[in-house]
Amino acid sequence: MLSFFRSRRRAQWRAKPFPEPWEKVLARHVPYYSLLPPEHQATLKGHIHVFFAEKNIEGCNGLHLTDRMRLTIAAHACVLLLGHDFGFFPGLESILLYPGAFIPRHKEEHPSGIVDEDPEAQEGESWDRGVVILSWEDIRRDLKAFDGRNVLFHEFAHQLYDLGEEAFPNVSAHQHFIEVFAKHYERHVKDVNRRRPTFFDEYGAEDPAEFFAVATEAFFEQPLFFRQKYPAFYKEFQAYYRQNPAEYFRQ
Ligand SMILES: [Zn+2]
Repeated sequence: MLSFFRSRRRAQWRAKPFPEPWEKVLARHVPYYSLLPPEHQATLKGHIHVFFAEKNIEGCNGLHLTDRMRLTIAAHACVLLLGHDFGFFPGLESILLYPGAFIPRHKEEHPSGIVDEDPEAQEGESWDRGVVILSWEDIRRDLKAFDGRNVLFHEFAHQLYDLGEEAFPNVSAHQHFIEVFAKHYERHVKDVNRRRPTFFDEYGAEDPAEFFAVATEAFFEQPLFFRQKYPAFYKEFQAYYRQNPAEYFRQ
């Protein structure tokens, strides 16, 4: 349970003025920020204060951490919390930021049974709940377009997925989500196995956690298309995140 003191402390952080140079960074370098309606922008800025106060962001491999990097990470993480804060990624302590791709991808077995030994690099990883590992190069690449790919939304979605039932207001909401989710996950796996083109990133066929993460990327980056293609599934995500990104893209 969220203690009285913690919630009071968070309210104090939220109320802090948002530095003007930070505001400029958001406007210039975080395209998602400009999409948001003013009331969400205000909520986001308060969340960013809490994020900075509670989470530790570290530059690794000699990376010099800038305000732009810290704000880019915090802003995207906190977009997921605009409708509902999910206890603010409880358990997440640190974000490690590397300059480029960092860890060789393990041998991967595709659902087709083909083992992929391509020494591709891992773009981001969410280890249990404690640590999120990211690459600045990949973050920047994903900010170039709203194309349904965003490693930040992806990794922080893993943090929420790990909450399981805790993330839902009640048991029946959880049950309902799981039913709809399972149906779409199975369809996705089938499509990937048959090498059909898929709306969600193929990587989502790895397991339900990955499917949740790639569906979250699509939900925030291509909500209109998502809603049009899979209205019932979109509705579940809208209920889960308690926000409707389709509205951000309306203009
Ligand atoms: Zn993932």
